[in-house]
Amino acid sequence: MPNSKKKKNSQKKNSQNLTPYQGKERTFGYFRCSACNKGWMSGNSWANTWQECKRCHITVYPYKQVPLEKSDTHKPKEEHPQELCGKCIQLGFRCRET
Ligand SMILES: [Zn+2]
Ligand SMILES: [Zn+2]
Repeated sequence: MPNSKKKKNSQKKNSQNLTPYQGKERTFGYFRCSACNKGWMSGNSWANTWQECKRCHITVYPYKQVPLEKSDTHKPKEEHPQELCGKCIQLGFRCRET
C-alpha cells in the first residue's frame, strides 16, 4: 500500500495582502473576473479592496495596481460605480469623497 501522506491543511491566512499594492493611497487598478474573464480598470482601487464584476456579481481583487499621479486629481469626475466598489460599501459612502 502506498504511503499516502495526508497534507496538512495549513492555509496561511494572508488577510493583509489581498492586493499587490499595500499603501494608503488610491490607485489605478486592473481587474479581471475569473468567472467571465471580463477585464476592467478603475481609478478607485484601494489596498486589499475588491470590486464586483458587473456581470457575475462576484468579488474580484486587482491583479495590478498603479499609484495615481497627482495630476490625476484634476481630471473630471467620472462615474464611479459605488455598488461595485468594496471600499464604498465598507465606508458607506463614496470612496472618492474621502
Ligand atoms: Zn464576471
Ligand atoms: Zn469606491
